[in-house]
Amino acid sequence: PLPSVGSPLKPIAMLARRFLRSKVAVVLWLWTAKGVCGISTATTKSSLSTPKLLQPFGKPSSRHHHNRNLVRSSGVRVYDDQDNEYIDGMGSLWYCQVGYGRQEIIDAVTNQLQTLTYNNFPPWSCDIAEEAASRVVQLSSTPDGRAYLCTSGSEAIDTAFKIARAVAQLKNEPDRQLIVRRRRGYHGVNIGGTSAQGISSNREGWGDLMPHFIEIDPDDIASAERIFAEHGDKIAAVVTEPVQAAGGVHPPPEGYLQRLRKLCTHHGAMLILDEVITGFGRTGNWFASQTYNVIPDLMTFAKGATSGYQPLGGVVASKQVCDILEANPDYLLRHGHTFSGHTGACAACLANIDLMEREGLVDRASSIGVRLSAGLGKIAEKGAIRSVRGVGAIWAAQLNNDDTETTVKVRDCML
Ligand code: PMP
Repeated sequence: PLPSVGSPLKPIAMLARRFLRSKVAVVLWLWTAKGVCGISTATTKSSLSTPKLLQPFGKPSSRHHHNRNLVRSSGVRVYDDQDNEYIDGMGSLWYCQVGYGRQEIIDAVTNQLQTLTYNNFPPWSCDIAEEAASRVVQLSSTPDGRAYLCTSGSEAIDTAFKIARAVAQLKNEPDRQLIVRRRRGYHGVNIGGTSAQGISSNREGWGDLMPHFIEIDPDDIASAERIFAEHGDKIAAVVTEPVQAAGGVHPPPEGYLQRLRKLCTHHGAMLILDEVITGFGRTGNWFASQTYNVIPDLMTFAKGATSGYQPLGGVVASKQVCDILEANPDYLLRHGHTFSGHTGACAACLANIDLMEREGLVDRASSIGVRLSAGLGKIAEKGAIRSVRGVGAIWAAQLNNDDTETTVKVRDCML
């Protein structure tokens, strides 16, 4: 149900519904000074028995009786077992660029699985993995590079860290191991990504994490300049999302990414752009590196690569990085996931890109963004929300309250 008449949130919910009638997923991310929450998560359900599933980012003590149990998805809508219909403003967990139930992708995956499922480790290879890698690389800011494939953003990020460190080792710079992270950043949940988290609560409670991480201020580039001045020859890489997403939708301050690029180039460090959310059209270009005109050495992707029809992630490495990996014919990249280049995932990726191209969805992200930001801006002018920020099809509304509890109530009210 919409929030009640007179609620300051009613206009936001109505706006979300109006804008989300199209098939491109638009993200509306609620933000308060102390926390964020998406509009497409939980509230009420019945069963009180102990579920066997430990839910991601869930409370193990929970008996799921606050959850809405989804049974069906179609277009921009999902449906629960009580026949409630929801408009999915976030594209699930920021991944469904093309909407649900797209037969073209389902058919491509089915055909591929009927034809070949096998691993992709030497001495084996398969055309579909090469095709998917090549298609993603061609769309990226480093079309003369190459791509490693895996099945999630977390795997992609840890792969990128390992490649950045391997490159330093191969260049005979064994002490170049530091990775610079940005406060508010989110880089997945593997041990490298957890160590790279700029959301401190996600780093806590696991014992020791990876050493050699340093945090910089997400808005003040002088903080990065100081770190480089002090540790420049020890820094393997800087990792950042071009638009910090899970941390509350923060587009980069003017010039910030460009100056990070210059610092990395000057000091011989890699720039890793984590495009797990911003990739595949979200910011109005295939990748946000194109929106901000910053070329990364390594770029991670996942989520929208398949619109979630199959799990696929990866890392695009620039030609300069590949040149170093290729220099010694005996060098073995001792890194590989069983499902690297999974045939079904690669088929989904190719069909998804075809569909996005055919329907002009990358451009549509920009036009939706213009409408959405104009509408949200009007609500902000009236004082119902504090502010609005975003780019392309990623927008956040900052509420007037400052506590997470109220924010969660607001979200649930909008479901
Ligand atoms: N990087 C970024 C920027 C992300 O937003 C996420 C997931 N939200 C990840 C990495 C991790 O991806 P995954 O959940 O697929 O492991």
